[in-house]
Amino acid sequence: MSSIIQLLPDHVANQIAAGEVVQRPASVVKELMENSVDAGSTEIKLVVKDAGKTLIQVIDNGKGMSVTDARLCFERHATSKIRHAEDLFALGTKGFRGEALASIAAIAHVEMKTKQDQDELGTHIVIEGSKFVSQDVAVLPKGTSFSVKNLFFNIPARRNFLKSDTVEFRHVVDEFERVAMAHANIHFVLIHNGSEMFNLPASNTRQRIVNIFGGRTNEKLVPVNETTEIVSINGFVCKPEFAKKNRGEQFFFVNDRFIKSAYLHHAVMAAYEGLLKDGTQPGYYLYLDVPPNTIDINIHPTKTEIKFDDEHALYAILRSAIKHSLGQFNVAPVLDFDRDATLDTPYDYEKKDVGMPTIQVDSTFNPFADDSDDKPAQSFSGGSSRSSSSSSFSSSSSYSSPSFKKDKMPSWESLYNGLNTSTDEIAEISFESEEVTGSLFNDEEVEQTAHKTYQIHKKYIVSPIKSGMVIIDQKRAHQRVLYEQFLANITVQHGSSQQLLFPLTLHFNKSELGIIKEMKESLQNTGFVFDEFSDDHIVVSGLPVNVAESEVSILLEELLNDLEQEVPDTSFSQSDSIAKSMSRSLAVKTGVALTEKEQETMVNALFACKEPGVSPFNKPTFITLSVEDLDKRFAL
Ligand code: ADP
Ligand code: MG
Repeated sequence: MSSIIQLLPDHVANQIAAGEVVQRPASVVKELMENSVDAGSTEIKLVVKDAGKTLIQVIDNGKGMSVTDARLCFERHATSKIRHAEDLFALGTKGFRGEALASIAAIAHVEMKTKQDQDELGTHIVIEGSKFVSQDVAVLPKGTSFSVKNLFFNIPARRNFLKSDTVEFRHVVDEFERVAMAHANIHFVLIHNGSEMFNLPASNTRQRIVNIFGGRTNEKLVPVNETTEIVSINGFVCKPEFAKKNRGEQFFFVNDRFIKSAYLHHAVMAAYEGLLKDGTQPGYYLYLDVPPNTIDINIHPTKTEIKFDDEHALYAILRSAIKHSLGQFNVAPVLDFDRDATLDTPYDYEKKDVGMPTIQVDSTFNPFADDSDDKPAQSFSGGSSRSSSSSSFSSSSSYSSPSFKKDKMPSWESLYNGLNTSTDEIAEISFESEEVTGSLFNDEEVEQTAHKTYQIHKKYIVSPIKSGMVIIDQKRAHQRVLYEQFLANITVQHGSSQQLLFPLTLHFNKSELGIIKEMKESLQNTGFVFDEFSDDHIVVSGLPVNVAESEVSILLEELLNDLEQEVPDTSFSQSDSIAKSMSRSLAVKTGVALTEKEQETMVNALFACKEPGVSPFNKPTFITLSVEDLDKRFAL
């Protein structure tokens, strides 16, 4: 039988390699930026068009390449960074596999310009789909410029697989930030569609982090420094009070390379034990330096996973270093002079002294006298708080006990107007399709009086219906109600907003602000009023009616988190994602007691929904038990 095995032609092998190395525009960004770092550049500029789908250009002022190297660098396994197998265990560079440029050139149109400092002239090469198109001598500045155009032009399936520009650009920014964070001593610039997104001058690590994530980051950081034989740890963790619901800013760098490690993440979380609110995550920016011969970076083509020789020791050292730093921070809390304490309490009442209400007893009062006279029964003073307890009203002598006349009571309850809790507001929700209301309940046989609903275990609302009973999951039901309301607000009619007395300033990093900007219109439709969009913060002066001031930052944080997980591509799915996220954040939770009125409103609101049977997350909102079902159970 004849032999059938052949060696693959280079361009095919390169395309296969590209499948692993280049998944999306962001992968090209990472490889090109890392090459520029390895070339000893002090300035690296990334220019991107249409999230990298049209153009990715990286310009550096590094050492450049000779004419021969300029040609060779596109060959597979062509690298200047290692020579022997043992070099793999003494890596001081980002690259070493020599396959990035070969892979990129196999699936895009690439133009390279490069010149070494000592040369008069540089080299200009054009290569498309692994084919050299031209090579010229050119007058160039020192350094190298790579332009990668029309990524995946020859693999339509790959190109179609790319996500929206928003998503792809977010990946690009992630890679840019990671490289920039690992090399604070290099000046980085990012330009997208002609506008400058980042300009990060050479600085120290702390400044670099602040320059990327916004001015407010500085006050959140707690330094971590620990040097041992097997690892030296530097960097920062965030103070526990700034922990977020999402994983947001969590970075490990090992020997200046961004890596992902669930194991080390666990070590960080263990250090925060007892300091975090449930379900929140601290931010961290941790730089580990280990002897290169104690790690294996070559276990994944994109090199974001690393194998450590002594993972256990690393875990223990990392955890204790962070614990130590957090401990020091707790002992000596930083005084924050910027904070204006008077803004903490929006209600004037809370500042007033809580005086005992005094009663002036009218000693001439005679209970047996005709009480048609208009003597004042009593007067209150200082009764501005709930401490006007019943005991204050009991007087020493039964004869002098003032008789209360309802109409003469000063209406002290009015002090609490406007202090309604958000759960009260459930009652104010109005619905489009009111006519559907209560179809399940409009039955004469069902007693219309007294208890129509019951709450059990602060989780379910139970109510009798014609055929038996309905059991409603309060959280899911409320999510459904809010979801339909927000969706209607975003898409059909605008929701009303409540004006804030003091506009809120909320800080976000650049990519978060980018997302909020994209969602601006939808958010405005739900009732948000934005006064200002700046580089690192927004100012909010109005909120949707059912959002309390204290909930805003957590609401937006959760929204950003959700949108990062599942990025909407179309405008409908954008509205849908926002409505879903907000309904989840704002819905009444399991464990919250509901008054009878609230239960009833909830039930009515649920059955007025277009799709009352499922939560926005496709979970059942209620179940019914028929009398027959019950009978069957009793028949056992
Ligand atoms: P690797 O980085 O793994 O060596 P690449 O395919 O990324 O492989 O690059 C191949 C070679 O091209 C590098 O080893 C380096 O010598 C050269 N090179 C790539 N980019 C640059 C650059 N920006 N400046 C100077 N030399 C570069
Ligand atoms: Mg490389």
